[in-house]
Amino acid sequence: MKNYILLLVFLLTFTSLFSQTTSTIIAEVDSDTLLTTLEVLSGEKPSASFGTIPNRKTTVGKGVTRSYLEQKLASYGLDTEIINYRSTGNNVIGVQKGVKYPDSTFIICAHYDSVDDFCADDNASGTSTVLEAARILSKYKFEYTIVYALWDEEEKGLIGSFNYARTAKENNENIVGVLNMDMIGYDGNNDYLFEVHIGNNPINARLTDQLTQVLDESDLDIEKSIQIPGTDRSDHNSFWNLDYPAIFITEAFFNNDFNPTYHTSNDRISVMSLDYHFQISKLVIGTLSELAVLSNTSDIEDVIDIVFEIYPNPTEDFINLKKKKNVVITDIKVFSLSGRELLSVNPNSYLNIIDIANLESGVYFLVVNTSTKRFSKTFVKI
Ligand SMILES: [Zn+2]
Repeated sequence: MKNYILLLVFLLTFTSLFSQTTSTIIAEVDSDTLLTTLEVLSGEKPSASFGTIPNRKTTVGKGVTRSYLEQKLASYGLDTEIINYRSTGNNVIGVQKGVKYPDSTFIICAHYDSVDDFCADDNASGTSTVLEAARILSKYKFEYTIVYALWDEEEKGLIGSFNYARTAKENNENIVGVLNMDMIGYDGNNDYLFEVHIGNNPINARLTDQLTQVLDESDLDIEKSIQIPGTDRSDHNSFWNLDYPAIFITEAFFNNDFNPTYHTSNDRISVMSLDYHFQISKLVIGTLSELAVLSNTSDIEDVIDIVFEIYPNPTEDFINLKKKKNVVITDIKVFSLSGRELLSVNPNSYLNIIDIANLESGVYFLVVNTSTKRFSKTFVKI
């Protein structure tokens, strides 16, 4: 038994290459929220504040879409801006300032304009994932600045992203990585294959490596196909042209699985594979979380021991969570190392006895949300 505990402690120290908070962030990506956003953006259902979004090719449709996107980003506490770069073009931007390197920026992006009615896959799919990233990551602090960008006029020749990248270059802005998503929801042959287009420039390797690591360490059921250099026909190319690091995440259109409804009004949510879209969203959001580096994650375990007593650890059938400070617990959850939610417990006021008898032996995260803060601690089940 002693050797077994030593092994578990070893595993605890070395197995999880990405941070435990990234695991919980991946687990927070919500399929219902993604679907609701897809329905609103593609005009299949009205939004509460702006009604039904018309065709995102039209001036009116793009205007309503912008209002919806900006309101969403602002509701997550981000600084938002609509950049009117020319009479027909407006990018929507949300900024989350980094606490350690505020002048170094990671961009997660997608284009929101379209060529026809609906256009769910192209590109409500990528746009909804940018909003989901903002919803989740805005609750945390990161060392690097994150820009959530929704481009206009991609369909007219990458014009919105080109204007943004050129202005950034002129202002000497330090963009350290761009994750572009365009058409990430179609999987006609149901093989869960997706593509990462990485260009020819070695400066893109760090982005590819980080995405690969998160994919390998997680329990996502999607398979990547690296394309070198890949296509230049989406917004990442605006950044490639100015030697900013960028990669392009998309469905398997170089692997004989092209969306047959492309650029028609048949590009509907019903043609998409929602679980495929959900899993790619988790991967990209997890990758961004790692790249942008969560701030003071190393403090989390110290802080939790001031607020709670968690015992015994290692344990067998139960783990106790006792309050030492007067905080309001909103929920208690147990996650696997790869970020899968395994248990959710209704909090009691003072002492919470969490039944873990059904868990296999191993290392887990106990995550406690209070009204003001999130706490996380690893424990060992023998
Ligand atoms: Zn597109």
